[in-house]
Amino acid sequence: MTPAEHFAQRTWSTLGRAEQFKVRFGEETLTDLLVLDMLPHGRTRGFWLGSTTKPAEGQCGADLLVFLRHRTDRFFVLALQAKKLYPDDRYRMLNRVSDSEGQLDKLVGFARQFHALPLYLLYNHSNMVVRSDHWHCCQKRFDKHQLGCTLVPSWHIRRMLLCRPPPPRDFDSAHKVKQAKPWRCAFDCQSAENELRRMAFPTPQHYSDTPSADNWIFERRVADAWPEWLFDKSTSQLTREDLYRLLSDAGTAPEDSFESDESLYPARVLMIDRPRESAVS
Ligand SMILES: [Zn+2]
Repeated sequence: MTPAEHFAQRTWSTLGRAEQFKVRFGEETLTDLLVLDMLPHGRTRGFWLGSTTKPAEGQCGADLLVFLRHRTDRFFVLALQAKKLYPDDRYRMLNRVSDSEGQLDKLVGFARQFHALPLYLLYNHSNMVVRSDHWHCCQKRFDKHQLGCTLVPSWHIRRMLLCRPPPPRDFDSAHKVKQAKPWRCAFDCQSAENELRRMAFPTPQHYSDTPSADNWIFERRVADAWPEWLFDKSTSQLTREDLYRLLSDAGTAPEDSFESDESLYPARVLMIDRPRESAVS
């Protein structure tokens, strides 16, 4: 079992047990566990920006950034907003509003600025899982525990919020589209890169009424600037300047636009370095 599969399975059972014993298990804790669980994954590094006790994602809309290098010269940046499914089978505060702007717009704005792919990272335990509706992994063997952690495109969440009459904000609504994938699909499945590329695009026939505002180039080329210095760091603490440097290495942000306000950056960063030259060329 891969680290991504292990995390999804454990999240499924943890949320199930938390429900059984009426224990509150927050998204912040689950996201910290995710970073820890992913650490043995090849050449992976996890970083925290200062303390995670105070949620700093109120502003930028992302809880976690994943830098995923999938080829020697290519990488994706995933900007992830974490939400958990409550025992009543609802995602609450799917678009929490602060400073008059919703989390979804903040997430998409952040992703656009730094050429990242905005996704919702959903933590689930549900009795409503139906294989034919919700299983979109390219690995055919159905394993509901792998739905303990899923990636859902931001455009689909936007659609759930805007659609009239509004669909229930439940597991079924969030996972009906084929671009809603188990967490492992981004790392372990054979066509992981293509799965991620597909997540950026709404299915036209289902979304003709929704502007595909979340589409831009999010796959970046690594010049000679792939930050080896990160892998040499001996601590798991990253400064905001470090993260900004990382995000702008692809040349998408001018250096003088760095702002030190901590609320503008996600609290956690995962660097996953696993070129798979044999998979696609
Ligand atoms: Zn898959």
